[in-house]
Amino acid sequence: MGKKLIGVDLGGTTIKFAILTAEGEIQQKWSIRTNILDEGSHIVPDIIDSINHHIDLYKMSRDQFIGIGMGTPGTVNREKGTVIGAYNLNWKTLQPVKEQIEKGTGLKFAIDNDANCAGLGERWKGAGNDGDDVAFITLGTGVGGGLIANRHLIHGVNGAGGEVGHMIVQPDGYQCTCGNHGCLEQYASATGVVHLAQDLAEEYEGDSKLKAMIDNGDEITSKIVFDLAKEHDYLANRVVDKVTYYLGLASANISNTLNPEYMVIGGGVSAAGDFLLERVQKNFEKFAFPTVRNSTKLKLAELGNDAGVIGAASLATQFEE
Ligand SMILES: [Zn+2]
Repeated sequence: MGKKLIGVDLGGTTIKFAILTAEGEIQQKWSIRTNILDEGSHIVPDIIDSINHHIDLYKMSRDQFIGIGMGTPGTVNREKGTVIGAYNLNWKTLQPVKEQIEKGTGLKFAIDNDANCAGLGERWKGAGNDGDDVAFITLGTGVGGGLIANRHLIHGVNGAGGEVGHMIVQPDGYQCTCGNHGCLEQYASATGVVHLAQDLAEEYEGDSKLKAMIDNGDEITSKIVFDLAKEHDYLANRVVDKVTYYLGLASANISNTLNPEYMVIGGGVSAAGDFLLERVQKNFEKFAFPTVRNSTKLKLAELGNDAGVIGAASLATQFEE
């Protein structure tokens, strides 16, 4: 019987776990709530307990496992296996995650940031079709990315490689949390879509359900904007035009630099599906130069919530003998 991998996808509300074959097929999965109380000090002990509990539950032994891989928010030191600045976990100080999990489980452990892990998952078992060169953008509360060239993630000198959310798409545009202006994240994240809707609603005088909702002070989400656009709401379509313009521009710029086989778009906002993709594609074709336009394929992500655990587990394949 082949050895197994364990993948962990650590998020601000849930921690997802999976046991996979070395070929990346999920055999078991489960999740627990993330307890961020007390400076997030329960998180690592909870992960250790949950892994140990499930290894016992499935009557497995430590030597059946190659190792554990984990995706996490925050800034990761992959060599030391530490995390700092994961504010949605209340991890403000340095967390020696690798040391604790290896000691607590008796298994080898590897770690990377969550968007990189989702990118690895999509490359391996999802829209990336096991290709050598795959770029991944995830559109959620923020915008993250994972850039894979020649089957390896690009990390850069200080771990910021692949941070496509801070690609400038509108010079001197909306202020970003990073301190700069006009980053993709401010236009194509769930909150960015809402920000654009509110701004465009202010200048718009015509008939629109979206405009009426915003004027009423109703709560707007990116899903509402896309749903109304599908129903031919004029203002909602103006918002989607802008969002897809910025996404097409960013996708083309990434592709003009890396010429990946697949440029994959995932995350919550991508649930708008082909309606989103077709309009991003039009802008992508406008901005990509011919060689790239004819070889890089734009695709929607395929693994949904499983991308994170699958990609995280793939980190542990480095321990295979
Ligand atoms: Zn930024």
